[in-house]
Amino acid sequence: MKKERHGICGICFHSPGCGAVIHFDNKGKIERLSPDPEAPMGKVLCPMAESATQIIYSESRIKQPMKRKGPKGKLDFEPITWDEAYDIIVKKLKKLKAAHGPETIGFYAGTGTYERAFKDAFQLKGSEIYLASSILFPFGSPNTFGVGAPCYTSLGVLAPKVTMGSLHIDMFSDLDNSDLIVVWGTDPSTSTPPEMFHRIARAANEGAQIIVIDPRRTASAKLPGSMWVPIRPGTDGALALGLSHILVRDGLTDDEFAENWTLGYKEFKEYVKGFTPEKVSRITGISPEIIEKLAKEIAHAEGASYVMYTGLEYTKSGVQNIRAVMVLWALAGQLDVEGGRCFTRQENRIELNR
Ligand code: SF4
Repeated sequence: MKKERHGICGICFHSPGCGAVIHFDNKGKIERLSPDPEAPMGKVLCPMAESATQIIYSESRIKQPMKRKGPKGKLDFEPITWDEAYDIIVKKLKKLKAAHGPETIGFYAGTGTYERAFKDAFQLKGSEIYLASSILFPFGSPNTFGVGAPCYTSLGVLAPKVTMGSLHIDMFSDLDNSDLIVVWGTDPSTSTPPEMFHRIARAANEGAQIIVIDPRRTASAKLPGSMWVPIRPGTDGALALGLSHILVRDGLTDDEFAENWTLGYKEFKEYVKGFTPEKVSRITGISPEIIEKLAKEIAHAEGASYVMYTGLEYTKSGVQNIRAVMVLWALAGQLDVEGGRCFTRQENRIELNR
């Protein structure tokens, strides 16, 4: 008899995996996954979820550790047990540690294919990072590195921590209540999962203004009433500073907030004086009129939020580009307000680690 069960996709690293309805055939084999409308995450699955059956049933699936027999590159492996694999790894780690000290070991960890809830469960208490560090730090080496170096570290850790004192995961954009959503340097329709895009599309259909700042005319830029602002790649930071220039020039800043809750506001005001709309236009390729309009839209919206990512991050000045947008949002009075860029409350966070 065919069956359905609620489960988690877990193919990629999205914590804690997208909720999915798993459809089984008459023989109890998984047929397919479909979105689970009851799950907090999983109202829409990404195309990768379609490969769930291959990951489980593929003939090429590696089901146990494999040890290389011959020279590298010959693809000559033999199966070994998990105990044997652990013995080999631990012996080698101990030998290297004894000979050269623990720092001689570095782990490169990618996002891989796993169910992230396990990783969260083993995150060291009090640490803000996980993955290989859960093994490596107690071992005595700080040398964990990985794909995070070019991707996510600027947006997720460095820029928010030094600008807002908070990690990216401890902040959110209140899209469902936004009057204006700025999609900046990212294409949420291709995200895994594209849940954010569905929320933006719903907001657009309900009348929110969508502005897309991106060299590409993405799916978000084609939503009803959406305004596309093509920008020269790598110049987003200049645009953000130019928008702050206009807010300061026209007295549109949230001065009470800036005076009481920030450091360096006086210096910042001096710094952005040089980022006139004309100069920023020459840098970004966006007309001064559009730059003026953008600044006013952000300042006057009753709740403006943003969705930004790699377009700002994957440049020579990724951290500063992202910081410039965060500062712009704070100055415009769109920080921690309904429909704006908000902080999660400590009591609403689920502590998974031990
Ligand atoms: S983003 Fe896609 S692959 Fe990742 S858990 Fe969700 S549905 Fe699965």
